[in-house]
Amino acid sequence: MSQVREIDVEPEAHVSALVEGLLAEHPPATTPARDFLGAQFDAGLAWVHFPVGHGGLGYGPKLQRLINERLADAGAPSAYPRNPIGHGMGAPTVVAHGSEAQQTRYLRPLFTGEEIWCQMFSEPGAGSDVASLSCTATRDGDEWTLNGQKVWTSLAHVARFGMIIARTDPEQPKHKGLTYFVVDMHAPGVDVRPLRQITGDAEFNEVFLADVRVPDAERLGDVGDGWRVSLTTLMNERVSIGGSIPPREGGVIREALKVWRRDGLTDPVKRDELVKLWIDAEVIRLTNIRASQLRSSGTPGPEGSVGKALSAEHNKAVMSFVVDLLGAGGMLYSSYDGGSTANAMVWDVPQRGFLRMRANSIEGGTTEIMKNILGERVLGLPGDVRVDKELPWRDVPRN
Ligand SMILES: Cc1cc2nc3c(=O)[nH]c(=O)nc-3n(C[C@H](O)[C@H](O)[C@H](O)COP(=O)(O)OP(=O)(O)OC[C@H]3O[C@@H](n4cnc5c(N)ncnc54)[C@H](O)[C@@H]3O)c2cc1C
Repeated sequence: MSQVREIDVEPEAHVSALVEGLLAEHPPATTPARDFLGAQFDAGLAWVHFPVGHGGLGYGPKLQRLINERLADAGAPSAYPRNPIGHGMGAPTVVAHGSEAQQTRYLRPLFTGEEIWCQMFSEPGAGSDVASLSCTATRDGDEWTLNGQKVWTSLAHVARFGMIIARTDPEQPKHKGLTYFVVDMHAPGVDVRPLRQITGDAEFNEVFLADVRVPDAERLGDVGDGWRVSLTTLMNERVSIGGSIPPREGGVIREALKVWRRDGLTDPVKRDELVKLWIDAEVIRLTNIRASQLRSSGTPGPEGSVGKALSAEHNKAVMSFVVDLLGAGGMLYSSYDGGSTANAMVWDVPQRGFLRMRANSIEGGTTEIMKNILGERVLGLPGDVRVDKELPWRDVPRN
């Protein structure tokens, strides 16, 4: 498929015409969500900066915001809430590093939500220092055999595909001996076991891999180049978690304003706190708008990590404030029997939001790690201590 646009009109006018055409031919009110999303993908309006034929038009990514706003105003569906890892991280990784065949196979059903994706990076012994991981992939002809354990794997219980990094050369230093694959989560040897969280839900899992066969055709990037591929996933993850741009007074701060107005609160000390949080929300929102305007397509830079750290701490502060406003009622939580959930970000009551957002400063890289990135890559401060960087992975002591 061609990577080059074959039209010669202003991108914005072209995109507007396509959006109008999509809405006219597939009215959201009467079109099944999957059909609408398939048509959106085929029109190149899924990710406008992706290549033609793969959900995009090869335009700059800024136009996507315009498209999304127009479609949301018209009541169009979105599969993002069901497939946040696929949309936020899987798609950009596949388009950056996948073959033509992989892009054709994976992107459309990922966009429509027919196939959910998960990310299998963290292990019991490798989280912040994920490059030290132990899961192995051993070559066997045209296939690889995967063995190991992953943990905290969000949505693995509903996922069709998982992005995984595995060690293919233990003689190399930790970052160099890794290779990246797409794993069929229904393949023999993949064992997904839910883990219960503080909310009572089990949105993440342990995943055990025992002699799981993966065709070499499902490798993303070169053998030994998995770390570079995984950086595309990780940097997009940070933008996906911390880079959202809600309308002013939208997002988490809306919950605080909702309770404040609903309960007719007037306490001047609490109002001071609320105004401070409101200003923080607006500063983060404007910072994310600026970062998204500066971002061209490709792997996002450290600004994604800065936004992620700021929003994680802010979300926790806002939800603590909301629970405080609720007084004794803030201690009431209907049930911890949530069971498994297929939506990683579901929180329908403030108490659930308060509990769920404790994880914001851990998932997708902890706030301490985001601060290291800010210090090293933005402020130019001396680097973290990395004693094992050049050692063969096999020789690094681990427990
Ligand atoms: C809700 C949730 C969902 C998740 N979903 C996924 C998922 O889908 N897929 C996946 O692969 N992983 C997932 N994770 C895992 C997440 O990425 C890790 O928990 C995270 O990277 C931290 O790793 P760790 O838990 O092993 O903590 P550790 O790395 O052991 O860190 C422990 C503490 O030490 C600090 N620390 C570690 N190294 C440094 C350093 N160099 N400098 C300063 N401080 C440091 C950390 O900040 C932290 O406070 C999820 C986690 C949560 C909470």
